[in-house]
Amino acid sequence: METKTKDHAALAEAFIKDEEHVNWHDGALWWIRQKRDIASKQIPEWEALREAASQIKSNVLSNLHDYLLQFEANLIKNGITVHWASDAEEHNRIVYSILKAKEINQMIKSKSMLTEECHLNEYLAERGIDVINSDLGEYIQQLDNEPPSHIVLPCIHKRKEEIGEIFHEHLGTEKGVSDPTTLTRFARRHLRNAFITRRAALTGVNFAVAETGEYVVCTNEGNADMGAHLSDVQIASMGIEKIVPQKKHLGIFLRLLARSATGQPITIYSSHFKKPREGQEMHLILVDLGRTRQLGRPEFRESLKCIKCGACMNTCPVYRKSGGLSYHNTISGPIGAILAPNLDMKRHADLPFASTLCGSCSNVCPVKITIHDQLYQWRQVIVKEGFAANTKVLGMKAMAWTLSSPGSYARMGRAGRWVLNNIPFAINNKLNPWYKQREMPDGPKESFGEWYARNQKENGSDKK
Ligand code: SF4
Repeated sequence: METKTKDHAALAEAFIKDEEHVNWHDGALWWIRQKRDIASKQIPEWEALREAASQIKSNVLSNLHDYLLQFEANLIKNGITVHWASDAEEHNRIVYSILKAKEINQMIKSKSMLTEECHLNEYLAERGIDVINSDLGEYIQQLDNEPPSHIVLPCIHKRKEEIGEIFHEHLGTEKGVSDPTTLTRFARRHLRNAFITRRAALTGVNFAVAETGEYVVCTNEGNADMGAHLSDVQIASMGIEKIVPQKKHLGIFLRLLARSATGQPITIYSSHFKKPREGQEMHLILVDLGRTRQLGRPEFRESLKCIKCGACMNTCPVYRKSGGLSYHNTISGPIGAILAPNLDMKRHADLPFASTLCGSCSNVCPVKITIHDQLYQWRQVIVKEGFAANTKVLGMKAMAWTLSSPGSYARMGRAGRWVLNNIPFAINNKLNPWYKQREMPDGPKESFGEWYARNQKENGSDKK
């Protein structure tokens, strides 16, 4: 499932048409940001935890090769089959071959942004395998044939009335029913049947412990546990950056993750998976999908510290006003705008520009990624590589020339004032994207420089 138009501004324009909806979306995310603030202030060592997490992740990135091999050796010791995938195609092929070997054509899957990045559901559907998403938000998005708009809250852009409509259309609930508890109970009945009957379950991975070969999956619904425990074949897909060196480090990350994501002190289920139960098969797929390339970019490697809490999205004024789907990438928001150009610079060249660079994202990031600095650096790389939009490049060139000397600045200022005062329609028209959301002011009669010179002359102060 992909969004169709591939430009943030165009997709955002469609999203902001319904102003009331935008304000509601903005408010819902800001409410979560405030919950995060309250939760983080409740523990005095918050900043120390952030610093420790950031340093642990720095160590992981510098020694990733060794930690991955240690993790693999321990997984094998624990009876888990390990697979390595360099890209989405290889990952999907591995999942398919595991299911095919067991003649399984139905699977249940808990939340995994990695499998969304790989478009796993579509790949398996084309080969006759049905996948049902068990996370409630992802289940709603799947019913509506839309990708998740947020990595933690996949359907945050939908109001309960819209969800009620989707349930009515696809699950046959009574028309007009939008009570969240009623709808959740209905979804639970549907999903319970899938949990009981499906022989294969796939989960994501939040943290993978190198020293023990176990991995941790965090959910609030217990859906990963239900699927994994009831299945004959359990598969976990993880990006190679999810490693933490030791089990004791989990205490730091688990405290940071839940508070940053939703303002909860701890995620309801933080489940450790270590070995298959008797008669069960367990597979873990380690996926690169551009991570080693990002690791090789010194200015952007820190983005691999991300623990996918979503806090940078909740706080970002552009994200809150434009919606996650406008980023046309599985990982949206500020961190998505850093990760996406690494995957395809041409296709995602617009994303680092979808930011005010206010720095709020960096302030809330639990692993202290300097997100806004990296967005700024991506802009420079994208312009240098020739992927920036021509209008932007020309505009910047014109601005550079205007600001390059007092003479050109004064001449352009005079021209601009004349246009605003005499032919305002040349600027205030629908071809000007800036004007679409703004009213241009009346042009002043003179510039500050002209006013200052006139006053000096009139008051005679230049003679003193
Ligand atoms: S970049 Fe930081 S704030 Fe954003 S999702 Fe990742 S860990 Fe959370």
